[in-house]
Amino acid sequence: MPILVMKFGGTSVATLDRIRRAAKRVGREVANGYDVIVIVSAMAGETNKLVGYVEETSPLFDAREYDAVVSSGENVTAGLMALTLQEMDVPARSWQGWQVPLKTTSAHSSARILEIPTDNILSKFGEGMKVAVVAGFQGVSAENRIATLGRGGSDTTAVAFAAAFGAERCDIYTDVDGVYTTDPRISDKARKLDKIAFEEMLELASLGAKVLQTRSVELAMRYKVRLRVLSSFGDMGDNAGTLVCDEEDIVESNVVAGVAHSRDEAKMTLISVADRPGIAAAIFGPLAEAGVNVDMIVQNISEEGRTDMTFSCPTNQVARAEAAMKKAKDEGIINFHDLVADTDVAKVSVVGIGMRSHAGVAAQMFKALSAEGINIKVITTSEIKISVLIDRKYMELAVQALHDTFELDKAGA
Ligand code: ADP
Ligand code: ASP
Ligand code: MG
Repeated sequence: MPILVMKFGGTSVATLDRIRRAAKRVGREVANGYDVIVIVSAMAGETNKLVGYVEETSPLFDAREYDAVVSSGENVTAGLMALTLQEMDVPARSWQGWQVPLKTTSAHSSARILEIPTDNILSKFGEGMKVAVVAGFQGVSAENRIATLGRGGSDTTAVAFAAAFGAERCDIYTDVDGVYTTDPRISDKARKLDKIAFEEMLELASLGAKVLQTRSVELAMRYKVRLRVLSSFGDMGDNAGTLVCDEEDIVESNVVAGVAHSRDEAKMTLISVADRPGIAAAIFGPLAEAGVNVDMIVQNISEEGRTDMTFSCPTNQVARAEAAMKKAKDEGIINFHDLVADTDVAKVSVVGIGMRSHAGVAAQMFKALSAEGINIKVITTSEIKISVLIDRKYMELAVQALHDTFELDKAGA
């Protein structure tokens, strides 16, 4: 039997009724002749609630226990989905990550998948089981501890299963009917894309478009998984959604494919550090050891052998970053006058493979932002993206202004 992977995100399993609708969709694919692997997220809001419990209990928590707590939301939906399917006379059972066992690294709270043995589930398919429901977002480390794959990680579970089982397709069911030129919650001019190139999706995801977890796109690209994003709302009929595919399979595309935003950014500046060889390593080494995900970095002009060093990181890692810098200072690894955290910033980015061969995108971006009176605090670029850090209160305005200036509401602009 051909295998299909279907992943249902939090809003798609938010209530028992929504689980029933999703199960009906799964039943249709079983009737179409597939053995189906269903990957489920926790019910909408559950993971946030569990993260809240952990943070309230222990601000600088032990990530192994964080994983023990936050992985539990998916266990509930996996069991409920299997029960719902059984009620519909579809032979199904649930698997938690460790039962597969989905083996991961030991990087708790952002573990990577190492291996997914297929024998266990395949032998059940061989015995007539039609649907394997697997709890997304979780696996087990070599130390036999539960590990999670980072927020949004069920997408990655789904793509990894599709690759491991050679699935015909990996369908990601969510609360929007595909990938848009920007978050449809922010701009009503956002346009649904029928296709998007892996590389563009990868950048959009890593720059904050949470419709797919970055790692899931990386895996799909590497293992040539046919990846589709579609809505679990409406009748879920022949709704084509968006296909994430190779660049060559896209006939017409805009120079800028999309605009992404990331709300939870913080800008941190170390005031007056020594401007000497090795200073960047002395700062960013301890930050990395403390598990801080540094994104943008700017080193300012040096005056009398001292300079300011600015970097950005997720808002919820500010306390970790401060603790790491204080420790490095106490240990004499670095010396600085002050550490200033600005937690009211956001990152807005434009992405497009057309930028490789098209000059002037940055200038147009900066002009559009300046026309709205938006001040840019930090800029970073790569071959196919430009990101700016701005005051968070201007984030929506910036996204809309960029969507307008690059005419993303029109195909082939
Ligand atoms: P799920 O719970 O199904 O995993 P997520 O909330 O993780 O869903 O991702 C879907 C959300 O991603 C949408 O509701 C939308 O607000 C957001 N999003 C951000 N950028 C985009 C984009 N470019 N296209 C579509 N959705 C986007
Ligand atoms: N439930 C997890 C989260 O909210 C994983 C996922 O939904 O993909 O991040
Ligand atoms: Mg998600």
